[in-house]
Amino acid sequence: MEFKKDDDPLNFVCRQCARCCRNSAIRLSPYDILKICHHRGISTTQFHQHHSSFILDAENQNFLTCMLKTSPQCLFLDGTACTIYEYRPQGCRTFPLGAQHFYDGKVFQNNYYILERCGGFNTTEKISVGQYKKEQGVYSDDLIAPWAKFKTEAINKNLPSSDEFYQRFLTVCYDFDNPIFQEALRDQGIIWPSTIEERYFLIIQCAQRLLLEPYSTK
Ligand code: SF4
Ligand code: SF4
Repeated sequence: MEFKKDDDPLNFVCRQCARCCRNSAIRLSPYDILKICHHRGISTTQFHQHHSSFILDAENQNFLTCMLKTSPQCLFLDGTACTIYEYRPQGCRTFPLGAQHFYDGKVFQNNYYILERCGGFNTTEKISVGQYKKEQGVYSDDLIAPWAKFKTEAINKNLPSSDEFYQRFLTVCYDFDNPIFQEALRDQGIIWPSTIEERYFLIIQCAQRLLLEPYSTK
């Protein structure tokens, strides 16, 4: 896999064909879910009823992963237009680039590579990887790192594989409007923050404390 630097050429222009909005594998972070729910004015529970599915992700050592439902097509697609363009998930922003995260407990790196060929590559137009990321509003490493680090730590733990644990994991990481989670916060005197970013950082803190700390490292 060849990693791309920001000043590498991409020779790419999006043709707006929306092929990437159909039958695509788009993984969602808590930050993606927070943004969509906030801007759509829906709860995480309502979001999951229509727009997501959950898998034990073979590419990430069976990490319980929330996927955007894109089969046969994403429900946010209208014709070839994304109806949540301003707050679409990170995976939609980076396409046709994929990201591979590296975290060894100290150093975090986020490397981009070409994920898939699409019609946009047959062009003489030149853009650099960095320019493309800027145009697409790709989230900064500061926002990506907490969830990527949590994932790496979770993969390196001996976590249970019981239905009960998966349900707790799902509630804390992906369904945080759920009354069970919100009540648990109130019981501990934690106020649900007002900004999306603060909520995201709180979710990661809770996930680390409730889902990782009780278990040993592999
Ligand atoms: S990124 Fe590629 S597949 Fe997606 S809309 Fe643009 S040209 Fe089509
Ligand atoms: S959220 Fe928007 S960009 Fe992403 S798959 Fe759905 S319609 Fe396409």
